[in-house]
Amino acid sequence: MDDGFELRVSDRKGEGIFATRSFKAGETVMVGVIEKRLKKNHSHASQIGENEYVFHAGSISKVNHSCNPNCGIRINETGAHDFAAIREIIADEEITFDYAMRNYGVDYFPKECMCGSEICRGKVTGWKDLPEARKTIYEGFVAPYLLEMDIKYCAEQA
Ligand SMILES: [Zn+2]
Repeated sequence: MDDGFELRVSDRKGEGIFATRSFKAGETVMVGVIEKRLKKNHSHASQIGENEYVFHAGSISKVNHSCNPNCGIRINETGAHDFAAIREIIADEEITFDYAMRNYGVDYFPKECMCGSEICRGKVTGWKDLPEARKTIYEGFVAPYLLEMDIKYCAEQA
């Protein structure tokens, strides 16, 4: 059965997930399944709440970051992250998302960003360091707790 994506080795970044068919904007590309809940952050963990981290099962953990991604995050009924297409994706395109859509801060990516997009930020940053204009573009495609944390910390600063 064709899931619509598969693991391939990309020359720049090692392993990546690639589309095997086209997806329309808004379509669910990958369905998230929580494999394990964690007590603290880990280099391969996904943040799903202010202090909640999980491992996602299967290929979803292999999706690479891009500063100009074609997918975003949508929470499904299990609390896991689905990847949904922000824009149309064509077959053979690499599936990417922005780590800032999921992590408030990024603790485990100190090195330069390798995404190669024209609007690369240079360094992989979390939501708290994302420019406002990008946050607007990602509206509807980020983990909801990030927005809650923005409100909370803005209120604390005021
Ligand atoms: Zn980048």
